[in-house]
Amino acid sequence: MSDKLLRTLIEDGQVSLVAVDGTETVRHAQIIHNMTAPAARAFGRVLLAMTYMSCWLKEETGELSASIKHRGETGEICVSGDTLLRMRGYVYNPSASTDVIGKGYMTVVRDDSYGKPFVGTCELVDGDVDKDFEYYYRLSEQLPTYIRTDVVFDGNGLCKAAGGVFLQPMPGASGMAVQAAQNFRDQLSDFGKLLEDKGMAGLLKEVFGVENAQETAFSYGCRCSKEYIAGVLSSMGEKELRDILSAEGKISVHCHYCGSDYEFKEEDVNEMFPPATEKEQPQ
Ligand SMILES: [Zn+2]
Repeated sequence: MSDKLLRTLIEDGQVSLVAVDGTETVRHAQIIHNMTAPAARAFGRVLLAMTYMSCWLKEETGELSASIKHRGETGEICVSGDTLLRMRGYVYNPSASTDVIGKGYMTVVRDDSYGKPFVGTCELVDGDVDKDFEYYYRLSEQLPTYIRTDVVFDGNGLCKAAGGVFLQPMPGASGMAVQAAQNFRDQLSDFGKLLEDKGMAGLLKEVFGVENAQETAFSYGCRCSKEYIAGVLSSMGEKELRDILSAEGKISVHCHYCGSDYEFKEEDVNEMFPPATEKEQPQ
């Protein structure tokens, strides 16, 4: 099952409108990470904003990560996405009882897979995910971007709807178009309620008069695998791994992004570091 990111232009082509319909993705994350509704709301809104950011990645192998370190109860929130909009992440404290983002800062790493990754850091200005991302865009891209995101929950505290709307005036847009984009953002102050009542398609039609948009599917997706984890482990060095093996009998690795557990035994380590006799065998 997958969600949708919709792109179109409004205001005579002067404002880009992207809508992220992320209910399944946020719900999936909430379930695998066992998040309370407040933790899932804070995390989900970051994930929606990151899905938007990821849709502008240019290189096929591009990857984007954000880490929000703050004093609020959820603690650090990390979300990554790639060009295919495979989104993943985790929150430090999934049991948080409030979604308030405290003072802190956000670090965004964009890896276009050539040369050095771009790293941008900015202070969290408002304690509100939308405003913090708006500020990040203003600082890093020098572009006004108007954002509304929300996650709403059913009676059991499980994500029932999650979405975001992102408005960005195109370069050279008129003052009126910029103002219109801002007005739309302000008009959507009750975004969660609108999303719940009308769904993303209904909201786009009613508020923006948009019925057709370019669609891209996206979903929660982790890129971990036993081979990938083996690569990370082998970089720790043979001695370290053999020490853990002799102490614990196995090496257990938990992926924070998707909750998968991996186990490595002696034969796996032998495969990473073939014993000397095998190494010296002629080809
Ligand atoms: Zn994983």
